[in-house]
Amino acid sequence: MKYHSKAYACIHVLEDRKPVLLLCRVGGHFQFLCGGDHLSSDGRVIGVGHIIDADPSLKPLLDLTDGDEAERSGPGSPWITKRSS
Ligand SMILES: [Zn+2]
Repeated sequence: MKYHSKAYACIHVLEDRKPVLLLCRVGGHFQFLCGGDHLSSDGRVIGVGHIIDADPSLKPLLDLTDGDEAERSGPGSPWITKRSS
């Protein structure tokens, strides 16, 4: 995973209003989401490194393979990985 690989984040995560609670990989791209409801206009394209710098604890999750997702109930809670397929 390259630092500047394209990823998506919801605006809540990007503006630091909410922690990342849901991470999924779709079509090879990571999506960093707060787990709340979103409008299509809430999504932003970012570099993976931007999010990892903000929360280095997310780094191990970059091992997710395409179609997987990981969820946690709050910051500091363990991530639960599940395969969506
Ligand atoms: Zn959000």
